[in-house]
Amino acid sequence: MGELGSGRYGWHSSNTPKRSAEAVKQIDIRAWTRDSLLQPGFVIQTSWKLAGQRIGSMCTHVGDGRVCLVYSHRFNGGSWKEVHEEVRIAYTACGYGGQRPWFLCPKCEHRAAILYLGSSLFLCRECCGLTYTSRQESGNIPKQMARKMERIKYKLSIQEPGGLLTDMRIDKPKGMHWRTYTRLMKELEEVRTTGLKSMAACLNLLHDRLQKAPKR
Ligand SMILES: [Zn+2]
Repeated sequence: MGELGSGRYGWHSSNTPKRSAEAVKQIDIRAWTRDSLLQPGFVIQTSWKLAGQRIGSMCTHVGDGRVCLVYSHRFNGGSWKEVHEEVRIAYTACGYGGQRPWFLCPKCEHRAAILYLGSSLFLCRECCGLTYTSRQESGNIPKQMARKMERIKYKLSIQEPGGLLTDMRIDKPKGMHWRTYTRLMKELEEVRTTGLKSMAACLNLLHDRLQKAPKR
């Protein structure tokens, strides 16, 4: 994993955030609205292409105030899994009358026009970790977060580092107040999430580069 962050594959600084987000599979609710597809009972077919090659497809079943995304997905070369993901739809009033639909990100529940397929689900840009752009940032965040976790775990009387994918079942140390324990555990989880998101962003970029590499 360390290699991913160290820039061994060296993507270039011309990889703007927009480009990295475009490299992953995404759905845009504005396109569905434009084509009047967002009607209960409709089934929307989506497919994605990269460099002219079809890289995946999906069925979306439109319900009332929600859609169900059905697709096959595998992450980081693992086995394919069929995913049924429910995404709620929220509406806001438009200035000129009528309503504008939004996806509610299944993770953070914030409104989003576009959802991206991250490590396992379609989520908003932020939850997919697509906000990290420069090589330096992408490279260092997982490492930084792992180090931060080490410091928090030390306070929780855990000595071995273990990195981002470490076991998170940690008992309250004897003599520590529950309030302190809860705070540290929450901090630990937040730091870990930030590190993993950044790692997912690195993997997405790497995946994109591998897809574009000439086949031998
Ligand atoms: Zn989100």
